[in-house]
Amino acid sequence: MRVITYGNPVLRKKAKKVKNIDKNIIQLVENMFSIMHTNVPQGIGLAAPQIGIPIALFVYGLDDDEGVMINPKILEKNGKEIGEEGCLSVPGVFGPVERAESIVVTALNIKGKKITARLSGLKARVVQHETDHLNGILFTDYIDDISKLNVEEGYELPEKLIERLKEK
Ligand SMILES: [Zn+2]
Repeated sequence: MRVITYGNPVLRKKAKKVKNIDKNIIQLVENMFSIMHTNVPQGIGLAAPQIGIPIALFVYGLDDDEGVMINPKILEKNGKEIGEEGCLSVPGVFGPVERAESIVVTALNIKGKKITARLSGLKARVVQHETDHLNGILFTDYIDDISKLNVEEGYELPEKLIERLKEK
């Protein structure tokens, strides 16, 4: 399985809710963890649509905290904060995105248990970014000016992204 990149229509689909956390889902989540960890560049989050499967779950991996959120829903957003984001589907490209500073999110864990958490900082940002993926939204959608994007050496802006930014 490879990470799907900008321009592929699957990234724009609204993800379907997971009805049953069966062994296929558990296997998928395991695969997603390993893709997130081994992908170059490494990611701190990966949503199922990014590997071509438009269902509502994502994995995240921060220094001391990793997990999966299934059918996540952001119930509350508080404050605003601008931070630099990147995405495995837009590799090597970074840009500033305004997000809520803290959120309350509810989701199922891998055992199907409903978890509700209040998050802030980087984890709140990752959860907002990944939840956007489940609604077909990419972080670059928040960018209105190409000059705001930083492109790492060895990478290029996707042509379709350049086209979209020209329309703005
Ligand atoms: Zn992303």
